[in-house]
Amino acid sequence: PPAIHWFRRDLRLADNPALARAARAGRVLPVFIADPDHPDESALGAAGRAWLHRSLEALGQSLGGALNIYLGRPQDVLPALAARWGARLVTWGRLPDPALATRDEAVSAALRGAGCEVHAENGFLLWEPEETLKPDGTPYRVFTPFYRKGCLAAPPPRQPLPAVPFEAVRDAEALPLAALDLWPKHPWAEGMMAHWQVGEKAAAARLARFVSERLAAYPARRDMPGADGTSRLSPHLHFGEISPNAAWHAATGPGADKFRAELGWREFSWNLLVHNPDLAERPLRPEFARFPWRDDEAAFTAWTRGQTGIPLVDAGMRELWQTGWMHNRVRMVTASFLVKNLLIDWRAGERWFRDCLVDADHANNAASWQWVAGCGADAAPYFRIFNPVLQGEKFDPRGVYVRRFVPELSRLPDRWLHRPWDAPRETLAAAGLRLGRDYPAPIVDLATSRQRALGAYRTITAA
Ligand code: FAD
Repeated sequence: PPAIHWFRRDLRLADNPALARAARAGRVLPVFIADPDHPDESALGAAGRAWLHRSLEALGQSLGGALNIYLGRPQDVLPALAARWGARLVTWGRLPDPALATRDEAVSAALRGAGCEVHAENGFLLWEPEETLKPDGTPYRVFTPFYRKGCLAAPPPRQPLPAVPFEAVRDAEALPLAALDLWPKHPWAEGMMAHWQVGEKAAAARLARFVSERLAAYPARRDMPGADGTSRLSPHLHFGEISPNAAWHAATGPGADKFRAELGWREFSWNLLVHNPDLAERPLRPEFARFPWRDDEAAFTAWTRGQTGIPLVDAGMRELWQTGWMHNRVRMVTASFLVKNLLIDWRAGERWFRDCLVDADHANNAASWQWVAGCGADAAPYFRIFNPVLQGEKFDPRGVYVRRFVPELSRLPDRWLHRPWDAPRETLAAAGLRLGRDYPAPIVDLATSRQRALGAYRTITAA
């Protein structure tokens, strides 16, 4: 009989420890299950569903058409499959998402009750959360000691495993991919996904290209949104099309330490989520529970559409909508603008990103929003408020990025590009631009909204 491998967020054949274990049986029934009890399993939003659709297509091809798809509760589907096929071993890649813990325990219990051996193995993180605790057994709350003393002092991440060949078994009763109805109805999805190659082969190619062409310059260029200086591996890592171990070990030589430290941030976010299951809902700093957030639907809508009148913010929000991804520097700037200049609750921003990012990730998204909002464990202090004009002038000095996503400003000289409202009338006219007609006037004044944010912050810190 075949072993069963339940694919979750490990949509790859290479360096997949749980799959390798199943493959030792020689024959494997590869399974993907859409669980109606967890429709947004681990932060699956609209963009993520489009990605998942393509990723399952790619995995199905790698398996010669034998990715077997089911709809139902895994604790029902898997024991029934095991009984029908006589399978004695069921494997899956462990995902330490607290939102899935109860379900996963129920799956294990149901399978064991049916006489199956269950083997769940970590292929998603570089280190198991238990390996990176403080000596006293409690979790680190600050990144640098977490990474230096927790991660780098632990045994190094294992090398990628060689692939174990197996015969992939097809179940005639499985559903077609279309039955999962993952592809969004909105026409936006086609255009967004045209920016990406999805699947394990594309991920490996992207990593190889990044290492050979961009890694050495990564420390210098990673903060420049117009430079295409980062790996863009985040959706591939999120869906497990590539293992973090493959990324870690491929990165050697100049630039490698910085890149590996970013993979360390991913570990840190996941550790925060493991120890704070409500990371996406509850501020880690309790005083933020009484923060006087503003309800402002018009401002929120302007932010989501990239129509705030602040060029770097608008470029970022449009990049997000058009491509399903946003450069990290600009994620920080757009998030800070929402939370501080507009005083809108970070959770609204977290939800928008969750729906629009192809890399939307329960841990990374929630932890990063808390970090920007100043309510996270290891957060930038709330009173350090990004100025999107200065950020633009520093990190996009030639306006490559803003011109790409806000073409209506493209003829404005660099000097005014990040603050068109300050430009002389004749300059605007020469660029064919009237604020309020061709591009919005800023929806808030940066200086007064900054003061308002500091005032709001004082209300929660006053004893
Ligand atoms: P690279 O610079 O090439 O880094 C390599 C990998 O390291 C990334 O693919 C990612 O897995 C990891 N990484 C890098 N930076 C971070 C970070 N700050 N925190 C955690 N992991 C990191 N990242 C997500 O994967 N999913 C999210 O939903 C997400 N939401 C974010 C929301 C906000 C408000 C902010 C400020 C950041 C968010 N990030 C998120 C972190 C970061 O912006 C992205 O991981 C990064 O931009 C992905 O691009 P890259 O693959 O080219 O990164």
